[in-house]
Amino acid sequence: MDPSFSAESAWKIFEELTVNAHQTQQQVLQEILTQNLHTEYLSQFLSLDSDREDFKTKVPVVEYEDIKPYIQRIANGEPSDILLAETVTALTRSSGTSAGQPKLIPFTDRELDRRAFGGCLRSSVVNKFVDGFEQGERMKLHLQFNRPEIMTPSGFRTRSILTSIFMSKYFETHESSLYTSPIATILCLDSKQSMYCQWLCGLVHRNEVVSVGSIFGSILVRGIKFLEDYWKELCSNIRTGQLSDWISDTGCRNALSMVLEKPNPELADTIEDICNAKSWEGIIKKLWPGTKYIDATVTGSMVQYVPMLEFYCGDLPLVSKCYASSECDLGINIKPLSNPCDTSYTFIPNMAYFEFLPMHEDSEEVRNKKEESELVDLVNVKPGRFYEPVVTTFTGLYRCKMGDILKATGYHNNAPQFQFVRRKGVFLSVDMEKTTEDELGEAVKQANLFIGRFRLHVVDYTGAVDISSIPGHYVLFWELKMEGSSHVPELNPGTIEQCCGIVEESLSLVYRVSRKGNGIGPLEIRVVKNGTFDELMDLFVSKGSSVSQYKTPRCIKLEEALKLLNYRVVGRYFSQQFPASTPLKW
Ligand code: AMP
Repeated sequence: MDPSFSAESAWKIFEELTVNAHQTQQQVLQEILTQNLHTEYLSQFLSLDSDREDFKTKVPVVEYEDIKPYIQRIANGEPSDILLAETVTALTRSSGTSAGQPKLIPFTDRELDRRAFGGCLRSSVVNKFVDGFEQGERMKLHLQFNRPEIMTPSGFRTRSILTSIFMSKYFETHESSLYTSPIATILCLDSKQSMYCQWLCGLVHRNEVVSVGSIFGSILVRGIKFLEDYWKELCSNIRTGQLSDWISDTGCRNALSMVLEKPNPELADTIEDICNAKSWEGIIKKLWPGTKYIDATVTGSMVQYVPMLEFYCGDLPLVSKCYASSECDLGINIKPLSNPCDTSYTFIPNMAYFEFLPMHEDSEEVRNKKEESELVDLVNVKPGRFYEPVVTTFTGLYRCKMGDILKATGYHNNAPQFQFVRRKGVFLSVDMEKTTEDELGEAVKQANLFIGRFRLHVVDYTGAVDISSIPGHYVLFWELKMEGSSHVPELNPGTIEQCCGIVEESLSLVYRVSRKGNGIGPLEIRVVKNGTFDELMDLFVSKGSSVSQYKTPRCIKLEEALKLLNYRVVGRYFSQQFPASTPLKW
């Protein structure tokens, strides 16, 4: 696939692909099989003359964990053709975790071409709605951040999919000039310096900016909070044409020397006037008057940031452009100006071979065993039904469940469209991290063991996310009991603060990295009065839960339940230090 084609030609190709969705899917599967039948993984189930039908009857539907041992062997230095024929150039670290560690997914040069096609396609859709968005004429203020590369013992780079894209020739030649952030500011590993410099460049180019955004809504909200804290210093840099001394990153300093060419007191005055306003309601449109849309994914767990973004961004449309993952690009939003709650993603038929596992609407179970053996093809999904996508990629995942729940909403040509419902098993999420009920349970168990020394134990607990301050943080409501006493125990604040730390240490590496990078605030434990969890049960029973089947929800979203819990809080305790982020294990 030629990554250098224009946005218009990408759209034309997409139209053909969606009209011929079935044939394209057959070709994709054929190509993957032709390349990879000899691999150790596939040869367990298939022979060299197996065809697509054999694939569907003999290759099992698996979880990432089933393929992980092969990827670990590659990370440890075995030839990558145990899993895939294409040369592996890096391992992508995803925000999804396996045993607390980021999942690793093989990455290849051809995968980069596919991602580039996805990028062109997204631009082509947006171009249809935004005029004059040609290179050099209009720019995107898109906050993007790099994470450090980590080497495996055998010398593979592991990095996020975005880092692979930023570091590619494709990005340098086709994309980077569209952004207000010079590449050096994106690649800077100090997120504070990176953020500061990216805002500075965005402000200097304020009249050329056509979209403001970041990959996810959470990051943009955090960015705006940063701007609230730093706008005076940013204005002073613009006024004097001098970058603050604390920006020590050489790449950033060099890049900014080209942007801050000379003192610009008029611009500094204008920005100061705007930022000095009593309220920051609608600030984005005031600071960047040419902004046509906000470019940030706000579907799924990011929906919690919509009210804040609406406050800062006024009536600018919030555009969630795509449904993508470290595994592969999956879908694109072809109606970018639609309301976030109506956003559907049209699957792109040449990105991978897609199958769909039918799900019950409100449970994580498959509908029934028979249906599991009858995965649905891309072109056969039924609007109104819920599915988990199962992907077979060019990069070594074969019939691997994605862990997301989607609702089919319709078709574009012959390609289905889906709303993102939620990630399976994820209960708490503030930033890019995703914490499951089991992970939370294990973390609380560790803290419970610790307070056992003080004859205390957790009677019951639940969790919530508090994004009223930025960055958001996890809140755990704990009902505690002292052995041999029925009263609220006397608590030593230091002990419960230590519990906050123990919980954080026990959460996934992705949580800890995000916490260290200030993407998540200190975890909080709110101790509640004795009997609170009985009252919580009464509330849920009054709403229709059956007493005999009641299980304490481990994540509370219901406003009334949160009120009940907060009303009974007797003490609030916060984690006092950053958790250690241990290195990745292979
Ligand atoms: P990662 O592999 O770290 O890029 O994370 C991919 C996951 O992010 C997906 O499996 C989804 O759970 C989530 N995700 C990706 N795109 C969207 C979207 N448009 N809306 C909601 N969640 C998304």
